[in-house]
Amino acid sequence: VREANRRTSQQAATTSDGRRIEVAANIATLDDARAAVENGADAVGLLRTELLFIHREAAPSVDEHRDSYQAVVDALGGRTAIIRTLDVGADKEVPYLTLPPEVNPALGLRGIRLAQLRPELLDDQLRGLLAVQPHGAVRILLPMVTDANELVRLRKRIDDFAHAAGRKEPIEVGVMIEVPSAALLADQLARQADFLSIGTNDLTQYTLAMDRCQPDLAAQADGLHPAVLRLIDATTQGAAKHGKWVGVCGALAGDPVAVPLLIGLGVTELSVDPVAVPGIKARVRRLDYPLCRQRAQDVLSLDSAQAVRAASREIWPLD
Ligand code: PEP
Ligand code: MG
Repeated sequence: VREANRRTSQQAATTSDGRRIEVAANIATLDDARAAVENGADAVGLLRTELLFIHREAAPSVDEHRDSYQAVVDALGGRTAIIRTLDVGADKEVPYLTLPPEVNPALGLRGIRLAQLRPELLDDQLRGLLAVQPHGAVRILLPMVTDANELVRLRKRIDDFAHAAGRKEPIEVGVMIEVPSAALLADQLARQADFLSIGTNDLTQYTLAMDRCQPDLAAQADGLHPAVLRLIDATTQGAAKHGKWVGVCGALAGDPVAVPLLIGLGVTELSVDPVAVPGIKARVRRLDYPLCRQRAQDVLSLDSAQAVRAASREIWPLD
């Protein structure tokens, strides 16, 4: 099966009835970018940029940002890359940031909130991102957004930098949906954003109030919990009102049991580990979208993640 999947992995994945699902890769390094191409990823759905900031003495310069992202884009041979802005907080060791300690770092100055304290970190990153060629190869993704007001402010900042750099084409800006408020306000966010990308790792943590790093809760902190699925449903419905697309870049996107349900809820992009791309593409090709859509609505009324998992496995057996 692996060998057969590998042979078809460079081709686009559509369901049996012809609905195109983009299968992209989550990457953090240039080696990952090469692995994404080898495994047939259609694009990079999430470039995590934290590695560029850690294990060093000072924050990266604008040129370092640009060079690092340019190398990734060059390795992708024409595929697009969604680059997420910095998502460190007080829980990550970045000594030069000298952040005040926090009692609840998961609820603290994470993601775009860090820019309240250190605006220059995000500004330099945005300037570097906007300099990558060709301009259409890169999209920006903002982590830990809670409402449209934050997005509007940041979008203005991005547009100002683009203007100052003499850039003519607008850059696409997307929002991570990983906080319950963002899922509930998805229609407002989708009005302002070019796309939404659901981070199911954090969305699960914050919806179920279960620390994603607590090993004793790992089995319960399941993204197929009906509460999380209802928020995913709210997200795709909000996005549809404004004709925007929704992807999933959390670990749920690479879970074969979850894939039919995510597609059934209206997700059209799945971003997964590079090595998982061939298997997820093969899974997509065996699905019928109308059936996915109907059954995904049905599981929203189940009462546990286990019940959702059992239902999915019965309807779409794993091979
Ligand atoms: C997520 O929260 O699902 C996500 C993709 O982001 P990270 O795992 O980097 O927090
Ligand atoms: Mg996250």
